[in-house]
Amino acid sequence: MRNALLPLLGFVAASTIMSTAGHAQQNRVSERQAPPQSGQKAKNVILFLADAGGVATVNGASLLGYGEPLRLRIQKWPHLGLSETSPVDAFVSDSANGMSAIVTGVKTHNGVISQAPGGARGKEDGLPTKTVLEYAEQHGLLTGVITTQSIADATPAATYAHSNDRRKWGEIFSQAFTPRFGDGVDVLFGAGRREIGEQLAAAGTSFEQLGRTHSRPIHAALADVQANERRPVVVADQMDVRAATLKALDILQKSPKGYLLVIEWDAHSDDPREGLQNVVDFDKLIAEVQARVDLNDTLLLFTADHSFGLQVDGGRRGEELLAGYDVWKAATRDKENDLVRLKNVMVNRTHTGEEVPALAIGAGAERVHGYFPNTYLFEVMMKAWGWEPDAVPGK
Ligand SMILES: [Zn+2]
Repeated sequence: MRNALLPLLGFVAASTIMSTAGHAQQNRVSERQAPPQSGQKAKNVILFLADAGGVATVNGASLLGYGEPLRLRIQKWPHLGLSETSPVDAFVSDSANGMSAIVTGVKTHNGVISQAPGGARGKEDGLPTKTVLEYAEQHGLLTGVITTQSIADATPAATYAHSNDRRKWGEIFSQAFTPRFGDGVDVLFGAGRREIGEQLAAAGTSFEQLGRTHSRPIHAALADVQANERRPVVVADQMDVRAATLKALDILQKSPKGYLLVIEWDAHSDDPREGLQNVVDFDKLIAEVQARVDLNDTLLLFTADHSFGLQVDGGRRGEELLAGYDVWKAATRDKENDLVRLKNVMVNRTHTGEEVPALAIGAGAERVHGYFPNTYLFEVMMKAWGWEPDAVPGK
């Protein structure tokens, strides 16, 4: 009975949040029914975020990587839910709202980074909504954020920054050095060096100056991190997420109180081979990480910030999933076609509104089941640690 009610309650919670946007923070958690009790608390949480990695993309990745469905490691995880990603005022989410909702428990507008929906994109700030990373910092845990993308791009930004516009990369990145809780994100590895550097320069500063001011060098490559650095920052042109993750774990796993690690790997399938291969590679990394942690005290959570318009709509077993890809790539690579039409795969190259997978294993993973708004994943992480959110989370 309890389980049967959950999807309905999740829907009610989402509707309430959308209809009373100004009071979203107060409504954030209370409407959803208490999940099943578990004796196992998490010391550590690792959130794997496949950007644009919807259900069909995960399916396609297994077919591309292994020629068969259900071959990804994450597809063997015991707990699965479907996470609804929309912003407060539309059907389809971008990364800013999508990730903000996951890490703060508050849905907002597209383009807005971890602020309540009372503001306006690019014009007016909403109240900052407190992120799981900020809670982790407040509780004395170590924290890390890693991405294949710009470290100031919307998805990683939502964990450590608050901004009314996702494009303000200079402002967003600088916030990593002026944290509201604890000493801020401890391990920060991502790309975007040129663009962030340009925005810093426009604001009259630089990586060097920022690093000097905060006694924290901002390296241009992972290889430049010194062996004894406990809080390394790397903003590179390209980030090797596997190497970055293994290096981060070396540091974070020494934390006596535990850690939060957020890893984003892009899974947009505008180019279907690149997008699906990214998910295959991410899944292999997840398997490596899983082998390094104790699932009795660590929650592993995989999800996406929004879905994407890729579909497998043909093909026979044994056939190449992406038959015709090379011809498409050579012919249309630089064209702005909205549609990719391969023999067995079609990509409507845009974000889509349907729910995305949320997969979990480890301490507190049993709370992931049924349909729910993506804000529920904030609760899943908080409850795994045994933490209650602040009464007014934006304060
Ligand atoms: Zn995204």
